[in-house]
Parts: sequence; structure tokens; C-alpha cells
Amino acid sequence: MHDFEYRQGRLHCGEVPLEEIAEKVGTPFYCYSLPTLRRHIEAFEEPLSGVDHQTCFAMKANANLAILSYMAHRGLGADVVSGGDLYRALKAGIPGGKIVYSGVGKTAGEIDMAIQAGIMMFNIESAQELEVINERAGMLGRKAPVSIRVNPDVDPMTHPYISTGMKENKFGIDVEGSMAQYLKARDMEHIEIVGIDCHIGSQLTDVSPFIDAVGRLKMLIARLKDHGIALEYLDLGGGLGITYSDEEPPHPRDYARAVLDAVGPLGLKVIFEPGRVIVGNAGILVTRVLYRKQTKSKTFIVVDAGMSDLIRPSLYGAYHDIRPVEEKTGEREQVDVVGPICESGDFLAKNRDLPILIRDDMLAVMSAGAYGFTMASNYNSRPKPPEVLVDGARYHVVLNRQTYEDLVSGETVPEEILA
Ligand SMILES: *Cc1c(COP(=O)(O)O)cnc(C)c1O
Repeated sequence: MHDFEYRQGRLHCGEVPLEEIAEKVGTPFYCYSLPTLRRHIEAFEEPLSGVDHQTCFAMKANANLAILSYMAHRGLGADVVSGGDLYRALKAGIPGGKIVYSGVGKTAGEIDMAIQAGIMMFNIESAQELEVINERAGMLGRKAPVSIRVNPDVDPMTHPYISTGMKENKFGIDVEGSMAQYLKARDMEHIEIVGIDCHIGSQLTDVSPFIDAVGRLKMLIARLKDHGIALEYLDLGGGLGITYSDEEPPHPRDYARAVLDAVGPLGLKVIFEPGRVIVGNAGILVTRVLYRKQTKSKTFIVVDAGMSDLIRPSLYGAYHDIRPVEEKTGEREQVDVVGPICESGDFLAKNRDLPILIRDDMLAVMSAGAYGFTMASNYNSRPKPPEVLVDGARYHVVLNRQTYEDLVSGETVPEEILA
């Protein structure tokens, strides 16, 4: 379900040929489709109409201001994981009341900022964090709204690096520990208990782990009720997977139906924190072939984008479909598509069957809208690529390519070290 199609043999985003964008901004660049984004938001929201809920887009998937502003415009809130995320969310016009704050390492400064922004809730990840939030709220003369992020110990059956709800992960607090923290929180002067939260992992392609997690949360909710602790929000996190190659994740409709059935008539407002499912297939990374390099054992296609632009293949062994921007028929070969970075782990694809590629051919690395640009770095002193948003026949450069001056901005050379 996306907007990147060949027309007369040339890959387009909507009605715009990718070559046209490349001529304007150079390569590599990220390209996002606004109509796809709109469709994904609608597909997620449609089955939830009539359900008291708030969707809080997980900003770590894609935090571009234009994209976030569009989310705000469509009524979405944000799941933030840092002060920087919070700054962006507010700047994009997302009201504090639609922001949830997750993450194991919130600093005092970030906590103050979030309290002052009047966020919906902090998702508490440790006993000590709860104490610090109570303290900070006290210093500000406020009450901080909190949920406890429960680690329900279910296996999401996804990549270990993106599993978060198993007992060996650093996230959340186990069920018994959560119970104890709720009782402690109840007696804290500057804490207001508002909800319960879990997020078990990312790129889930089956609903059953979600259902198992909801079951464990419901048992805890019932025990809390016995202790006179009533909640307002049930936050089910994000994690719904997408198709990168041949995965068959549940449609958002089936996901929604299954989790809402499992939640049942609790009378709580349900919070969702989707990231990947909204933006993943709404974006691509476009890169250009620099060289063909033949060794005794392999053919390498060296391109101008690397792990500093898209780290998912290097970090998770993630698969991204790769398509030539100019459609090619005929002979194919098996190649490694690698970047310019000085690391053996710098690759976009390994042993991939692709048409014969030559210098200056352009390639589209598909499904790069989530955890693409947000994970980009300046490693090897490479300026971060631009981001382009396409809407039908029009496109907008929503982030300029970094310049070499940007690379050194903020750096200073103390004169005395040269004396
Ligand atoms: C990463 C994350 C999400 C979003 O996960 P997706 O798989 O992109 O939907 C939601 N909530 C929390 C707390 C996260 O860390």
C-alpha cells in the first residue's frame, strides 16, 4: 500500500519522477509520500472510530517537523522518548495533553520540561524514576500524571534488538514490581496515577503477543481496582509490523479488532503508540551507484548512501527491497549493495538478486520511512541527507542536506593547545 510506482519505466513518487527530485537535491535523499501517510493514518484510525482513544505517533520512527505537523493536523498526539522529541512535538503543534513520554533514561531537565508542557502522562520505567518525578513535580509545585510501563514478559517473536517486553529487557517493570510501584505512587504527594502502559516490541507480525500482554495488564488492572486505584488510560504501545519483503502482518483493522476484543468493557481511554506502521512504507531512500567492484568471490555495488543514512541493515540485518529507479529488464546478478563508510558492516543488501547495475544508476531503497532518517548520523563526516515530501504532482524539500559548515558548527579549537 504505497505510492512508489513505475510509470513509463521510471520510478515515481505520486506523479513526480524520482529523477526530477534527484536533479534538484542530489543523492542520497529520503522521499516521503503524503498520500500514503494519509492512507496509513486513516487505516489505523478508521477501526477505532467510536472507541474512546488517542493515537500518539511514536516519534522515534520519524521526527521531521513537516511530518509531525501533518500528524498534529490529523489529530494525532506523540509518543516522545527525549526532551528533543518533546521540543519537536510541541513545535509541530501537538498539544501537551496528547503527548506521552516513554523511555528508561529521562533526565531531571527533561522531566521538568514535560511537567511544564502539561503532558498526558509519563510512562514510568523504574522505581527510581518514579521517585525523581515525584521530587521534580514537588519542586515545580505540580502533580505529575503517570502510568507504569509494565513488562508483561511475553515474547513478541521479533528481532532481539526490538523486543522490549521480555523479562531480560531493560524496559518497564515486571508485573509484581508494577503492583508495588502503584501502591508507592498512590502515597506520593506529587504523583497522580492516570494509567497503565505496555509496549512489547516492534515489527510484530502476529496479534497473539499483543493479546497475551493485554491479558496480563487486565489482571493487574483488576488488582489495582481492589486496592482502590482507578485508571483513566490503557496504553497499548506500538509495534504493529509492516511488509518489508514477504511478511504478512495483520491489517490495522484486524489488529484493532483483536486488541479491543481482548481489552473488553473496561471503560478506559485506549492509547496507541504506532510508529513504523504509519510511516515505514510511506518513505524510501534514493541513492546512486558510484562503482561496480568485482572481487574473486563477490560483486559489490558501491552506492552513495551508507549506514550513516540508513543503519537498519547493519544494525538488525534488516531487509529492504531495492529497486532501480529506471526500470531494468534482462540479465540479473547477485550482488552486495554497500555504502562508502569505512566499516565492513556498512551494507544495504547482501547477496541480492538485482538487474545489472552500472555507474550513475539510481536505486530506491524501499520501506525506509521509519527508523531511517531518525537513526542517521554524521559518521565518517557525512552530511545528513535531505528529506522530500511529495503530494501528488508537487514536492517540498522539508529538510535541506546538511552542509560541511553544519558538520563543524559548535566545534571550537582552544588556542592554547596549539601554543
Ligand atoms: C518504539 C516504540 C514505539 C513504536 O514502535 P513501532 O514498532 O514503530 O510501532 C511505541 N512505543 C514505545 C514506548 C516505543 O519505544
